[in-house]
Amino acid sequence: MDNEIEVAHDAMLQLDKIDREIDALDAEAIASPANIDEEEALLAEFKTELVATQASLKAVQERQSEQERSLTGVERRKVRADNRLGSLGTMGQIEATQREIAALTIEAGEIETSILETMEEVEELEASIEKQETRFERGVVALAAHKSGWNSRRGVVESRLAELKTAREPLVAVLRPDVLRRYLLGRNQKQWPTITGITWALGDRVCRTCHGQIPARWVNEARSHLAYHACDGCKRMLVPDLAWEEVAKAAAALAEAQEAEQAEEAPA
Ligand SMILES: [Zn+2]
Repeated sequence: MDNEIEVAHDAMLQLDKIDREIDALDAEAIASPANIDEEEALLAEFKTELVATQASLKAVQERQSEQERSLTGVERRKVRADNRLGSLGTMGQIEATQREIAALTIEAGEIETSILETMEEVEELEASIEKQETRFERGVVALAAHKSGWNSRRGVVESRLAELKTAREPLVAVLRPDVLRRYLLGRNQKQWPTITGITWALGDRVCRTCHGQIPARWVNEARSHLAYHACDGCKRMLVPDLAWEEVAKAAAALAEAQEAEQAEEAPA
């Protein structure tokens, strides 16, 4: 490869591959710890909710004990009133005691109803606590797995990044400064879906990245390594990509074969 443009085209193809891998690893190095932080924050929230529900349960259980104590008190008073009945002298006293017993019976019934309602509340809170505990415990296990996963992965990511940055240097070195600038300009066109500094033609003259028109002469000159060109639409360097051309050719051949097959199958 003596042609400077051919060498540069080849360097940009390799550089693009490296830069994309660097982008992906950089993204992973940022996203993984961020996800772990998010999980930790969520777990803290789960814990707060669990503690709050446990406190509610305790308050409701205390209320239930209170209700049970007052029921016992009412029942004792009723027993005492019942016992008194036999030893009372006047009708007035008997009637008053009977009224007292009737009132105590009503009160005991009301307290029992409240106790049943409180027990339902206790059951609901206990069920919530069970769910919240399971959610929290699962979260703890998942977080531990993600942390240890990232701990072992981090070293791999860091050493691969160092490797790629080293591999990048000689490729950058063969590019003329103005060509490198144009490559980087292409990379900075963030409005297009893939971050890359290069592109190639779909068919003969449609940009693979932005689908804009590319003059056929530019495509031919790029393919023959006669001149540097960049797509007008996405500003990316037109770098002949043999692998891509092979893929495009194979796809075109497949489409043609399928069409022929369909034409054969179709009734005459
Ligand atoms: Zn383009």
